[in-house]
Amino acid sequence: MMDNIDAVLSIMQYIYENIMYAELNTKSDYCQCCGYTGEIQIVTDEDGKLVWECPNCGNQNQDKMNVARRTCGYIGTQYWNQGRTQEIKERVLHVSNETLVPEAEEIAETVNA
Ligand SMILES: [Zn+2]
Repeated sequence: MMDNIDAVLSIMQYIYENIMYAELNTKSDYCQCCGYTGEIQIVTDEDGKLVWECPNCGNQNQDKMNVARRTCGYIGTQYWNQGRTQEIKERVLHVSNETLVPEAEEIAETVNA
């Protein structure tokens, strides 16, 4: 989201003009081992268990990182069962930092016309 401010502003303008009740969630996790801020990743360990891992230093100690995710309507922290962790891992972004391909831009213009 930090790399696509134009998209963020467009979404906020749409929310303001149309629905008034929506929000954008950012992932501002923190690794206490290396100071990384951003999105702590969910990976599968050697036993098949889903664990949280710092993408910068590989820290997997949940006592040495801060993670927050929206679940069941509220933003919760530290931590969730394997089922909820899998659901969080499988979430998809609906707005990415990637530039639209020309065909998609044409479709978007058609839809917005
Ligand atoms: Zn780290």
